[in-house]
Amino acid sequence: MSAPDRDAQGARGGALKPQPDPLPPNARSHGLWEKSAPAAPDTCGLHRDIRVDVAVIGAGDTGLSAALHLAERHVSVSVLEAAQVGFGGSGRNVGLVNAGLWVMPEVVIGRLGMPYGPRLLERLGEAPGRVFELIARYDIACEPVRSGTLHCALGRKGLEQLEQRAAQWLALRAPVELLGPADTARRTGSRIFSGALFDARAGTVQPLAYARGLARAAMANGAALFTDSAVLGAERDGDTWVLRTSSGSARADWVVVATDAYAEGPWRIAREEQVHLPYFNFATGPLQESLRQSILPGWEGAWDTRRVLSSFRLDAAGRLLFGSVGALRARGADVHQQWARRALGRMFPQFGRVEFEHGWYGHIGMTADSLPRFHVYAPRVIGFSGYNGRGIAPGTMFGAILADLICGKVPLSELPLPVTEPEAARFRGLREGLYRAGSRALHWSMDRL
Ligand SMILES: Cc1cc2nc3c(=O)[nH]c(=O)nc-3n(C[C@H](O)[C@H](O)[C@H](O)COP(=O)(O)OP(=O)(O)OC[C@H]3O[C@@H](n4cnc5c(N)ncnc54)[C@H](O)[C@@H]3O)c2cc1C
Repeated sequence: MSAPDRDAQGARGGALKPQPDPLPPNARSHGLWEKSAPAAPDTCGLHRDIRVDVAVIGAGDTGLSAALHLAERHVSVSVLEAAQVGFGGSGRNVGLVNAGLWVMPEVVIGRLGMPYGPRLLERLGEAPGRVFELIARYDIACEPVRSGTLHCALGRKGLEQLEQRAAQWLALRAPVELLGPADTARRTGSRIFSGALFDARAGTVQPLAYARGLARAAMANGAALFTDSAVLGAERDGDTWVLRTSSGSARADWVVVATDAYAEGPWRIAREEQVHLPYFNFATGPLQESLRQSILPGWEGAWDTRRVLSSFRLDAAGRLLFGSVGALRARGADVHQQWARRALGRMFPQFGRVEFEHGWYGHIGMTADSLPRFHVYAPRVIGFSGYNGRGIAPGTMFGAILADLICGKVPLSELPLPVTEPEAARFRGLREGLYRAGSRALHWSMDRL
């Protein structure tokens, strides 16, 4: 399909060519990513009964990485996806390939204890390298940029938070660097920040293109991929599992549940244990070169220290993506778009008038303690979930670990997370409603200050 810059169309400037209103996007839209990603591999639905060693439910980064690493070892594996490759978080995220979690390293160690805390941090520290190595190995066209990320501080409090974070990472010998306000202004193109934490391990990708590339690589190694094939039921039959779709079934020795925050069907508990935090992205058209060079000239991915945070990054065609908490639905679509226009203008006064060409959103799954989970749902039914907005690198890494586990290359006791029982989140509906309404009210009121 389209190369990243295919639709440049001369829309290059602070004053961008007016486009048809991108809103309200429907909840299934992947916005810019759908437009600039290479085509998905050819797939079809599951309309027969199949027998495999491993059935993977969900074609996001976790499931596709598991399938790829299994197929590389000649294990027969099929992926069953309810919609399309990358339909969930994997195809609609910001594309920040991070080395760690939102919570600080000491919190991870405090909550998980020994040996899991340090082990998880070590594996997640390696995870971006794993992503970029897979991209190189399979020549995945997904706009990979490994220029690091900038976590940008707002005010004194934000800077103190980053000082703590920097000290904790440096104690673990992570390649992070705390930048002062002048360096941050030079690196971001904005003067609103009081400092930034640069993490050299991280980078950015075009997320839907990455998921499609993983799918292509898994299929090239022999994995089968069935789309529009929601798993509706699962029964144990002797030593095997039989997964049922509307027009077929898959009998497997092992089942990988890789449905995370978008889970439906028999192991929907993976979704019920998380609270959905809506997160939107808007993208401008490709910027004029002089303007583009003034914003993130080093192409880092960036976000800020606000509680209701904002993220910003460029894509390969020089579009600026700007995201924050909120759902682009009903009244929220307009409120968040108006706020994003003005917030971006305040952040980058060099912009002039801000216009967006694309808008889309998705659901980030948050767990009660902000840590991911490893569950054994039933005998030989396993999965990682609960990435709390950090799933590209962790999902890729955990998918490989699931393959190792199934192939007997790693025992349960050496995983980076303990086995836990899935538990439905308390007051989930209420909290999700509050996130939606709260972010809308906040952006509405910030716009009027
Ligand atoms: C807006 C947004 C921004 C984000 N930004 C970032 C970021 O910048 N960096 C980062 O690292 N992470 C980010 N995340 C988080 C990240 O996208 C997710 O953690 C990650 O994609 C999870 O991958 P996954 O493969 O586990 O699940 P998903 O990608 O969500 O895939 C699950 C799949 O399972 C399928 N499915 C569900 N039920 C069934 C069923 N019964 N049968 C068959 N298929 C089923 C769904 O259709 C879906 O395709 C963001 C998330 C969102 C929503």
